[in-house]
Order: sequence, then C-alpha cells, then structure tokens
Amino acid sequence: MATIYVVGVTGEGQARIPSVPECLFCRIVSGGVPASRVLESPRTLSFRDISPQAPTHVLVIPKDHYPDLAALAAADGSLLTELVNQVDEVARAEGISESGYRVVFNTGADAGQAVPHVHAHVLGGRGLGWPPG
Ligand code: AMP
Ligand code: ZN
Repeated sequence: MATIYVVGVTGEGQARIPSVPECLFCRIVSGGVPASRVLESPRTLSFRDISPQAPTHVLVIPKDHYPDLAALAAADGSLLTELVNQVDEVARAEGISESGYRVVFNTGADAGQAVPHVHAHVLGGRGLGWPPG
C-alpha cells in the first residue's frame, strides 16, 4: 500500500511535512519513541541525546518534519527563530549559559548527519576542543 504524506503549506508558501511515520524524531515528538524531555515550546521540543558527548548534550528540534537546516531556513524563518530561542532557554535551564556551550547543526553527509530531521545539538558542561573532528 502506498504511503501518503499530508503536506501543508507554510506562510511563506513552501511545502512542509508535519510528520513522517518512519522518522525517529517525528516518533519522539508523537510519543511513540520515549525520550528524556527537557523543554518544549509550541513548535519545538528538546530532549537529551541518547549518546551524550558532553555533560550537557541536548537536541532541539522543530515538531514538524524538516530534513535539514536548509529546508527549515527556506520554509519558515520564524520557526528557526523559535528554535534558536529554545536553544538559549535550554542553555539557561542546564546552567551552561555563563560557562559557554556549542550549538551544532550537522547538515548532510560530510558532517555525518545521521537523522534527517533537523536538530540543534546543544553541548556544554566541559571545555570543548576546536576545530571539531
Ligand atoms: P546527527 O549525527 O547530527 O544526525 O545526530 C543524531 C543524534 O541523535 C546523535 O547524537 C544520536 O546519539 C542521537 N540519537 C539517536 N537516537 C536517539 C534517541 N532515540 N534519543 C535521543 N537521541 C538519539
Ligand atoms: Zn521527522
């Protein structure tokens, strides 16, 4: 049987896909896959990375499905702003806003993006090396 996705249209006229059944992070949003939730805003969700690379390692995602940063930026600038505000709130809630933290959007193959649902890694709680690997 064919899979039919319900495609909406954003205010800026770009197609968007609210949810993709086989997407891991869409399933975390719907509650079908458990996650250690940290914070939430109307259109974003934050949860702990299952394989933390620093004392604080939180992922911040839009609840709607966008494959990567380019797709989100092209489709909905106000959602991108909401996502970045959520990153700031996570950093303050985790107590790393003063000590410093890193925000990473792995995008595409060279960056090793493994989950094709855009997500910001928020990493902190220790000194972070530069340049990254
Ligand atoms: P990326 O390589 O940027 O696509 O990052 C994907 C991240 O998702 C990795 O850091 C994984 O550890 C993390 N991850 C994978 N599965 C889960 C899960 N079920 N819950 C939380 N984080 C996950
Ligand atoms: Zn998704």
